[in-house]
Amino acid sequence: MSLLEGSVGVEDLVLLEPLDEDSLIKNLQLRYEKKEIYTYIGNVVISVNPYQQLPIYGPEFIAKYRDYTFYELKPHIYALANVAYLSLKDRDRDQCIVITGESGAGKTEASKLVMSYVAAVCGKGEQVNSVKEQLLQSNPVLEAFGNAKTIRNDNSSRFGKYMDIEFDFKGSPLGGVITNYLLEKSRVVKQLKGERNFHIFYQLLAGADAQLLKALKLEQDARGYTYLNREVSLVNGMDDASNFSAVQNAMTVIGFSEDEIRQVLEVTAMVLKLGNVTLTDEFQANGIPASGISDGKGIREIGEMMGLSSADLERALCSRTMETAKEKVVTVLNVMQAQYARDALAKNVYSRLFDWIVNRINESIKVGTGEKRKVMGVLDIYGFEILENNSFEQFVINYCNEKLQQVFIQLTLKEEQEEYKREGIPWTKVDYFDNGIICNLIEHNQRGILAMLDEECLRPGVVSDSTFLAKLNQLFSKHSHYESKVTQNAQRQYDHTMGLSCFRISHYAGKVTYNVDSFIDKNNDLLFRDLSQTMWKAQHPLLRSLFPEGNPKEASLKRPPTAGTQFKNSVAVLMKNLYSKNPNYIRCIKPNDQQRQGKFSSELALVQARYLGLLENVRVRRAGYAYRQAYKPFLERYRLLSRSTWPHWNGGDREGVEEVLGSLTMSPEELAYGKTKIFIRSPKTLFYLEEQRRLR
Ligand code: ATP
Ligand code: MG
Repeated sequence: MSLLEGSVGVEDLVLLEPLDEDSLIKNLQLRYEKKEIYTYIGNVVISVNPYQQLPIYGPEFIAKYRDYTFYELKPHIYALANVAYLSLKDRDRDQCIVITGESGAGKTEASKLVMSYVAAVCGKGEQVNSVKEQLLQSNPVLEAFGNAKTIRNDNSSRFGKYMDIEFDFKGSPLGGVITNYLLEKSRVVKQLKGERNFHIFYQLLAGADAQLLKALKLEQDARGYTYLNREVSLVNGMDDASNFSAVQNAMTVIGFSEDEIRQVLEVTAMVLKLGNVTLTDEFQANGIPASGISDGKGIREIGEMMGLSSADLERALCSRTMETAKEKVVTVLNVMQAQYARDALAKNVYSRLFDWIVNRINESIKVGTGEKRKVMGVLDIYGFEILENNSFEQFVINYCNEKLQQVFIQLTLKEEQEEYKREGIPWTKVDYFDNGIICNLIEHNQRGILAMLDEECLRPGVVSDSTFLAKLNQLFSKHSHYESKVTQNAQRQYDHTMGLSCFRISHYAGKVTYNVDSFIDKNNDLLFRDLSQTMWKAQHPLLRSLFPEGNPKEASLKRPPTAGTQFKNSVAVLMKNLYSKNPNYIRCIKPNDQQRQGKFSSELALVQARYLGLLENVRVRRAGYAYRQAYKPFLERYRLLSRSTWPHWNGGDREGVEEVLGSLTMSPEELAYGKTKIFIRSPKTLFYLEEQRRLR
């Protein structure tokens, strides 16, 4: 055990003295500079992205962490994975591992470390190995279709992911289920400067052989496609061509047939080619602006690939049918509207393809019903986001983080309480900030912001983002966590940073200003019926299957749930899932904005520490007893402090600890003897013990 080595800071922030933001960040920095990227808060692991390969992973380290208990070795993700796995296997408790942090902080790498640790220690045999292989190979496939280079991270996950890994009673893996959240589909048609589209497009163009490219009618390199950012087609250190064969191989291992892989690539190619469909102004006889497709070859090729006539496709893109109870009216779209329709189609095809891939993987890895199993869930999800301009996406992401914080506090407190109970120690109440009021403001069924947004989306008459904002202003004018220009003016606060079309929420992690522009549109997320009906007519089996609502027989006038409601529902399922499990947390921090090794920016780390609620975490954790340790290892470490236990001690562990602590002068409230552990109230007492040890 090496809890308190001055030169590398404390290994557990619970022992931090004094406890404030400053010392917390200094401690992380000190450790980071010594390449100690992991630090604990009790059983929570904080991970600071090293941006370099450290020699602390692989079979040798896995073997080491496997044989020790949590605090005996240096903090490590392996230690957490080990505790979680053992508790699942031996104590029959389902586990979840929640990994949070901002983009580029190392969440996905952490989730892969957890998975590879568990894969290495859980069960043997041919059958088991093939399950492990399938589970591990889901990563490259999902990364190819769901990750992209962004300004912050060359391999940024543009979706949230939760994966349940299921085990039999012996602890051997049986399979799993993956749930994905909110793919950033706007990326399909547009990327910021310096960013790329999803990896798969570049992989396909760089890695497919001439024959495949010809079959997919892809005749140009990455620069030739409008949907790909022409400035950045390559990423340093990323080999798109070899990743392409890795992805194909992974799909085969998972169980995709050759035909399925081909169809997936065909749909991917269709999306890419859709971007090059150029729409031009046309005019109808009566002079009303209309649109047409100027590139006949392109649209013909896409039509052929989809199994549609190009006339049908053109009609779907350039006109729109309005259906009323009595009649159908066809209106022509102008160029802007037709471009919007084309992009909406591309985004929809791609995001539905992604969902299909996730489902297909699940079909392969799912476990038959019947047998009772143990579950380990791994959640790799976007952290709290505050951008310069925050829109609907940030709003729902931050809502999800608000919920995660709620689970975190409740489960941490509950776990503390349970441990005290197990150990027979009286529980003292802990004060903490309950963010239920913020969750409610957003999610309340009738009066929450999401409900208001839905109401506005579904209300007949003229609705707009500003009528939505007006509604919020009216309803929440007195809410302590809501602000806008209107509520500020009413209170004679003059704040130049607040725009007219904005509202601001005081989240647990800080204030975020959201711009309501396009909230309605994004929440509606409607695809014109003409497009879905046309896609459903396509001969291409996979493409067609992605648009079941296009089947006229299935068509219902009831609209599908809005994007906000869908997200809220999936968050509710996720929360239910997490509440039923024993939680383990990995909090990831990005040390700098340049993806550079060795550089630690305190300002950046401080902001993230706040978003992650680290200080609150330490406070909750040491509200009762800051430190606890099983009697045996504790006695081993400190028995040299008492003559009666050193050099020989023949009694029990607990009695030994009583001897040691009894021989020192210390106030009785500082200590509590549990059934299996000694509890120490303040870090100072532990420092005192360490000091005494050094003096011997
Ligand atoms: P996003 O939210 O954008 O998906 P993320 O939190 O998942 O971000 P990762 O993709 O896991 O971030 O990490 C970003 C990069 O940082 C990795 O591609 C890798 O280069 C580096 N990195 C992260 N963790 C480690 C680690 N433990 N060791 C070495 N490099 C790491
Ligand atoms: Mg990621």
